[in-house]
Amino acid sequence: MVKPLIIAGPCAAETREQVLATARQMALAGADIFRAGIWKPRTEPGVFEGVGEQALAWLAEAQQETGILAATEVATPEHVRLALKHGIRHLWIGARTTTNPFLVQQIADALATSANGQTADKSEPEMPVTIYVKNPVSPDVRLWKGAIERILNAGITTVFAVHRGFQTGQPTQYRNAPVWSVPFALKTEFPNVPLLLDPSHMAGNAALVPELCRKAMILGYDGLMIEAHLHPCEAKSDKDQQLSPEELKTLISNLSRREEGLDAGLEGLRQQMDETDDTLFLLLLQRMQISKKIGAFKRKHNMPVLQEKRYAEVLEKRLQWARKNGLDDEVVRRIMDAIHEESCRWQL
Ligand code: PEP
Ligand code: MN
Repeated sequence: MVKPLIIAGPCAAETREQVLATARQMALAGADIFRAGIWKPRTEPGVFEGVGEQALAWLAEAQQETGILAATEVATPEHVRLALKHGIRHLWIGARTTTNPFLVQQIADALATSANGQTADKSEPEMPVTIYVKNPVSPDVRLWKGAIERILNAGITTVFAVHRGFQTGQPTQYRNAPVWSVPFALKTEFPNVPLLLDPSHMAGNAALVPELCRKAMILGYDGLMIEAHLHPCEAKSDKDQQLSPEELKTLISNLSRREEGLDAGLEGLRQQMDETDDTLFLLLLQRMQISKKIGAFKRKHNMPVLQEKRYAEVLEKRLQWARKNGLDDEVVRRIMDAIHEESCRWQL
């Protein structure tokens, strides 16, 4: 496994001292990029909305001092221009912005007219811009895909997708439901756009962040964007979900240990197996939830639950894939039959 890209830092920049001290800690913990929001999109007015433009100089200073690059959120063309002017070249588009195609297009246009992120001052070395596109608030893969296309069309070649979860209206243990099928569908459309997980905004709870990170690694995500604060309980935004620098350090070193799992003996392999089973069953549950929806649809349209022809096709497709990958026909057939049986139960 290639080393995952780690972006870490506070939800928001609060003071110059906090930015510099946190950036140092993030670098020590092993982060590749330092994140800090300076314009915070808040659901309701009257709360902390970020310290704004003044923090760009703090981020630039943090880059200079620690040697790791800083990233911040942009939500308007003006944000893009200001960030680039200060030499901040890793920019993310937040979930609420991705939801709005007009704004995404304006951001794309601003990126294109900044000569694809090159500084106007030609004496400066040319540095590419990297854009991270978070998923939109609703589980709409086309909206996410469309936003990525707008950025690619602006001539930006380094674009990442960031999965931070969705509002689905369904009960979930997380702040934002993962709906894993949506990033998987995106990956099918854009196999070359690396996919990161933002476990912090997904979980909304620091205690659930490590397990989401492990899942992301098993599922083949290319990296993580994690919120961390010097003193999480004093953070001005998202205090429940931020890790301390110490917790971040442990998390990152456990991730790299996982990569070396093969050398870690039986215990390491067993841990990998347990985590893979966790994911396997998570996907099974996901499949059953789809079955439930199909069941509701069939009921509404008076269709029978059991559709032999469809199942025969599903099974055949799986058997063909299994043969190519060295899995035993009979075993795969038994697994599929069991899944199908449980699916019918959920449809009912
Ligand atoms: C953030 O990254 O701080 C943020 C506001 O995230 P999102 O757009 O995912 O809510
Ligand atoms: Mn946040």
